[in-house]
Amino acid sequence: MIPAAFDYVRATSLAHAIGLLRDDPDGAKLLAGGHTLLPSLKLRLASPALLIDIGGLAELKGIEISDGGIRIGALTTHAELFASEPLNKDLPLFRQAAGLIADPQVRNRGTVGGSLANADPAADWPAVMLALQAEFEIAGSKGFRRVPACDFFVDIFSTVLEPDEILTGIHIPQPKSGTRCVYRKIRHPASGFAVVGIAIAIRLTQNLVTDATVGVTGAANHAFAGEDAGDFLIGKTLSQENIDQAARLLSQATKCLSDRYASADYRANLIQVELKRALLALSS
Ligand SMILES: Cc1cc2nc3c(=O)[nH]c(=O)nc-3n(C[C@H](O)[C@H](O)[C@H](O)COP(=O)(O)OP(=O)(O)OC[C@H]3O[C@@H](n4cnc5c(N)ncnc54)[C@H](O)[C@@H]3O)c2cc1C
Repeated sequence: MIPAAFDYVRATSLAHAIGLLRDDPDGAKLLAGGHTLLPSLKLRLASPALLIDIGGLAELKGIEISDGGIRIGALTTHAELFASEPLNKDLPLFRQAAGLIADPQVRNRGTVGGSLANADPAADWPAVMLALQAEFEIAGSKGFRRVPACDFFVDIFSTVLEPDEILTGIHIPQPKSGTRCVYRKIRHPASGFAVVGIAIAIRLTQNLVTDATVGVTGAANHAFAGEDAGDFLIGKTLSQENIDQAARLLSQATKCLSDRYASADYRANLIQVELKRALLALSS
């Protein structure tokens, strides 16, 4: 439980951090909240030569809400997302998801950017970002780019981030009036991570679904958007028959993971159960 020796630099600006990454893309690692990285160092699952602490970078902090949408800095902690009244007024799934992450210690230190960049297949935020059609702001030595959440997660613990890139923030389109959303998860009894987690945002006009977007975590190698299920619901009522069909489509959208706790079939069934529960909650 003792990490290999490493150097430590506290980055003084985004450009400083990017320069350090560019100089040693294979040997350096960013340190945000440290709640994934430090255990990995102690278990020697990672042994970087250099830790670049980005924790003091003001440009990666804060939640801004404007007519143009919502910007969440990558260093925003789970606890800050839980506590933000302006954010949760329209999008209560931030409080629901943050409240289901670990314990107060992890929530006070862990960051949304660290969670997304780490791409744990059972992490909570990826599902939320997929349902809200977020775009991720990325900075690197070649400049800035934005990547939609649906294109960001590549595989288990793998994203489109290049070794010299930093996730700086998350942009979420301003929710349309009347949008309802929910996040639900079945927690692994030992770790608390998602066996299956489902985030959904829908809008109903005169009982017909006009928008429906779904994000799923825990079930597969990486979080994914349930496009077929969402598209199926458009123009329909939330009748039991339509909910059942959307749940079937969602469970067929991926090859589910199988492990000692939950088989692929069990996870596929949980996808159906959780989507039905989420839609029933939103329809009442
Ligand atoms: C006991 C425990 C229980 C947990 N339970 C849950 C849970 O139920 N649900 C859940 O979702 N999570 C859970 N977590 C994980 C927690 O949410 C972590 O805080 C989070 O995954 C990583 O965020 P961090 O800021 O701590 O990142 P770090 O640990 O600092 O970094 C994680 C990785 O991301 C990289 N990184 C960090 N920030 C950036 C960035 N801005 N740009 C590019 N790369 C970056 C780092 O280099 C590192 O490789 C748990 C953690 C612990 C210790």
